[in-house]
Amino acid sequence: MSRVKEALVIGGGVAGSVAAMALQRAGMDSVVYEAYPGGADDAGAFLTFASNGLDALRTIDAHRLVLAEGFPTPRMEIQSGTGKYLGNVPNGGTLPDGTVSQTLKRSDLYRVLRDEALRRGARVEYGKRLVDAETTPDGVVARFEDGTQSEGDILIGADGIHSRTRRIIGPSAPGARYIPVLNIGCYASDVRVDAEPGTFRMIFGKRAFFGYAVHPSGEIWWFANPPRADEPTSAELAAISTEQWREMLTDLFAGDDTPAVEIIRATRGRLAGWATYDLPSVPTWHRGPMIIIGDAAHATAPSSGQGASMAIEDAVVLARCLRDLPDTRGAFAAYEKLRRGRVERIVAHGARTSNSKAAGPVGRVLRDLMMPAILRRVANGGSLAWMHDYHIDWNEKVA
Ligand SMILES: Cc1cc2nc3c(=O)[nH]c(=O)nc-3n(C[C@H](O)[C@H](O)[C@H](O)COP(=O)(O)OP(=O)(O)OC[C@H]3O[C@@H](n4cnc5c(N)ncnc54)[C@H](O)[C@@H]3O)c2cc1C
Repeated sequence: MSRVKEALVIGGGVAGSVAAMALQRAGMDSVVYEAYPGGADDAGAFLTFASNGLDALRTIDAHRLVLAEGFPTPRMEIQSGTGKYLGNVPNGGTLPDGTVSQTLKRSDLYRVLRDEALRRGARVEYGKRLVDAETTPDGVVARFEDGTQSEGDILIGADGIHSRTRRIIGPSAPGARYIPVLNIGCYASDVRVDAEPGTFRMIFGKRAFFGYAVHPSGEIWWFANPPRADEPTSAELAAISTEQWREMLTDLFAGDDTPAVEIIRATRGRLAGWATYDLPSVPTWHRGPMIIIGDAAHATAPSSGQGASMAIEDAVVLARCLRDLPDTRGAFAAYEKLRRGRVERIVAHGARTSNSKAAGPVGRVLRDLMMPAILRRVANGGSLAWMHDYHIDWNEKVA
């Protein structure tokens, strides 16, 4: 076992809370430092949690938290904007006990993971935004925006796609790459659609992509991806009112033969949009006692449905490496060897899927022609098994 006694975990999102639990299970203490006073925001409204993420959570006995909050969404039915049925594929894999992908609100996912980490004895400090960190003879010191600092043996940067830790480790590290579609998600009630609960309808509309699933309560959980060539600022997006989003979206989907317009009109909550990013390859993941995991190290476009699962796998694999290897340097190197190939392959897959959402008129025709054959291949199993069948054996020793 490495000599790590206490880890400083930067960021209390998905990777940070799971890292705290996994480290504890591996015999190490940690303190989570979260920038926001009460946790991160609700970007993305809801997310789909793949079976491999549930399998990774199971290694630390935390998968039931997601199963309790989510509803099963094991299938996707793909349509074109003309209403033409293009195919039907699994939405993520199925674990040997029959567990399938779950869809849940992002805020619920953050909350249950953080509450469970606290219940198991982790410490979480809010309002602590990391600004800098330095290596010391004994480990590392983290400095926060409020002028305070903390010392630990190692620092794990789980601070998301715009990670500060990434730049501390490598000042020339790449930033997030903009993907030219926006993301808007919300909930509609009192509207009837002919979709099976648990099946996501994914629609390649003429002008934008639209997806929805029926929650067991009858509520419709939906998202839209309006194309947007140039990167908007967050201030620009925040200035768009709910009514402006509604008008823009109903206009975008007006020419489609789908229930998108009806669903958007039946939505009562606040509409907000986010820019989409990924992060294909960060050359340096660790330096001395500092390392990045989750979106801080690699981020996939939401279309892969794998960001949260990869963050969890990272946290669990890192804890195993620190548990089994005698020094931090060896543990970090082993971690990178176990993770880099897989996560970069998933990010590449996510980028390809996102590009098909933003296709122009010619690309659209080709896509609709080729899609049924591609979907048949996926439906026949196998082609995404490498993504969903990933399994971490907690008890196996990392050599
Ligand atoms: C619109 C959208 C839809 C998505 N849909 C899906 C989906 O369907 N399925 C899926 O698996 N994934 C999805 N994702 C991706 C998923 O949300 C992320 O991959 C996942 O949250 C990554 O976890 P993380 O812990 O690495 O980062 P985050 O969850 O972003 O957490 C980072 C944390 O660090 C904190 N932080 C940031 N900077 C600092 C600092 N300097 N100091 C201290 N704390 C800091 C933040 O406040 C936050 O709490 C989606 C993302 C978006 C934007």
